[in-house]
Amino acid sequence: MVGAPADAVNRLPDPDRIALLPDRIPHIKPRLLVAEGDPVAIGAPLFEDKRDERFKFLSPAGGTVQRIQFGPRRSVKAIVIARARGEEGEIRFPLLDEQGLAAMERAQLIHRILEGGLWWVLRALPFRDLPDPERVPPMILVGLAAKEPFLPSPSVYLKDQAALLGFGLKVLGKLTAGPVVLFSDARSRAELGPAGAMLTHVVEGAYPSDDPGAVLYHIKRNAAENHAWFVSGADLLLLAQLLRQGRCPTRRIVAVGGAAAPVRQHYDVRLGAPLAQLADPGRLTGTERWIVGGLLRGYASSAEGFMGLYETSLNIVPADEAPDFMALFNPGWGRPSYSRTFLSRLNPQPLVYGCKLHGDRRACIACLHCANVCPVRMLPHMVYKAILAEEVEEYLQLGLLDCVECGLCAYVCPSKIELSQTFIAARRAYAREQAHKRE
Ligand code: SF4
Ligand code: SF4
Repeated sequence: MVGAPADAVNRLPDPDRIALLPDRIPHIKPRLLVAEGDPVAIGAPLFEDKRDERFKFLSPAGGTVQRIQFGPRRSVKAIVIARARGEEGEIRFPLLDEQGLAAMERAQLIHRILEGGLWWVLRALPFRDLPDPERVPPMILVGLAAKEPFLPSPSVYLKDQAALLGFGLKVLGKLTAGPVVLFSDARSRAELGPAGAMLTHVVEGAYPSDDPGAVLYHIKRNAAENHAWFVSGADLLLLAQLLRQGRCPTRRIVAVGGAAAPVRQHYDVRLGAPLAQLADPGRLTGTERWIVGGLLRGYASSAEGFMGLYETSLNIVPADEAPDFMALFNPGWGRPSYSRTFLSRLNPQPLVYGCKLHGDRRACIACLHCANVCPVRMLPHMVYKAILAEEVEEYLQLGLLDCVECGLCAYVCPSKIELSQTFIAARRAYAREQAHKRE
């Protein structure tokens, strides 16, 4: 694909405004702890999860709550903070060193992470929800690879951070009764330096072989391990920073890529930075699509949007949806395609990835492309039909809970069926139903 970000890192100045986007955090039910006009310091709680009030989300900036944006049914879309011009103010947390960590009980450590507002970095499979602190996970997976285009390169965000990563791994070791699995691909390992020596597993194959769910699918030894936790390497650094330095992390490395991005490189930015700080809208035509969080799994945003807590990439791609002139006679030399229909199969050059759908949605033609690319060997077309028919037992038997939400099935489907979005919605509905049953 055209549009890979360069490894160079540009440290951007602090923006005037940052935002937290509660409705981009899967599963949670946000309850606001601030109102418009309230002053906040770095580390002040902005909202909590109604399901468990210990899950707090803290402000990565000090200033004033400028705007709270609501969506349908009063869902909280964004909490925008106007950053203070001078001193931002900061809430400090206790410091933790290696000795303190070694002597600390699991419950005390969990309390520190919850108080520091970083419980969100941990997530539990299979639903990718925030984990239950009382449950001891059978394993914790930490991913350092970045096969989805175009996420930050681990060799960039881990530069000079091996000691912090090692501390983070020890923290995770205290949380689980089983192994901490640190994985990456062979290419990243070669570039990782001292952090590469800490890897326990090396993954092979194309995206999404480096997804924690896909890794677990291949290494799990029993059904209990289906409830393993995971954390991304970049998020683990935030957690280690909080505990070591006693300060709420405020910055992270993000990557900007995509064929239409004016500058493709890595940036060191504030958490919740405005997207317009990462790509100057003045250098774009206004017709591009802004995708936050990876080309295949991300979501559409705009120049007015902000980076979410979990998202570490912004891709800007051409959004031209007009039909191709004389398309039938176009051999497709530059047209990305999974099938062998186009000459692009023989084209060794990177191709431009855009938003063109080339026609409307059609009925499934049972081509099995979706099954061929599925990393967990599901039959997505069958699962899709079972979901439409509300056959819960059937879609569970067909492996819906193994789905890693990678988006590949929808990408290759020649009938443009929104398979992965349907699976994500069904998985979340099932997770909600199970939670209700437990209450
Ligand atoms: S069903 Fe689709 S989204 Fe789910 S893992 Fe398979 S290819 Fe990925
Ligand atoms: S790729 Fe699309 S058309 Fe082909 S079997 Fe799967 S759902 Fe059906």
